[in-house]
Amino acid sequence: MRSSKFVRALPAAVTAVLALTAGQAVAAPAPAAVPAEHTAAARTVTYDASGAAEFKDAVAKGAAIWNESVVNVQLKPAASGQQANVRIIADDGWPRTLSTGLGSGTIYFGREAVDEGYNTVRISSHELGHILGLPDMKPGPCSSLMSGSTAGVSCTNPYPNADEKAEVEDSFGLVGAGATAAAGPLMYRD
Ligand SMILES: [Zn+2]
Repeated sequence: MRSSKFVRALPAAVTAVLALTAGQAVAAPAPAAVPAEHTAAARTVTYDASGAAEFKDAVAKGAAIWNESVVNVQLKPAASGQQANVRIIADDGWPRTLSTGLGSGTIYFGREAVDEGYNTVRISSHELGHILGLPDMKPGPCSSLMSGSTAGVSCTNPYPNADEKAEVEDSFGLVGAGATAAAGPLMYRD
């Protein structure tokens, strides 16, 4: 099926090239087709870590990791007086995230996991991964960010793997192209 689709598409491409060059003594190079997700500006998701207490630094590191891992969305601290898309609150429970839609919600940075020895930057980027639309992928290896606590206390990897990055790029690329994000709320209890 794939090859017949290609054959059908070919005459249209040839026609397009002819149309571009016809009437032009010197044909300027045609602009390359750009996928829709790359034409939209990266979406900014703002966060408020004022309630993150001793985890503010881990929150900033988790956000920086996502910012260097994907291009279709960027996490930035909310300006003072600005309503943030995401709030991060330190508490004494297990880390969890209440998603209220793609790119918004509340992260509860639970001390229980930190007290057990889990890495704070991995917790941060994992919970931010939920905000960016990723579900838990458990059980899983340390190379997976969304395997969360199932990778064990010794796992300190705070980076999303290729599949996790691609899923976030796809989600925010579709939003940039005009798709509507799935509605929340959804609680991720880890
Ligand atoms: Zn989780």
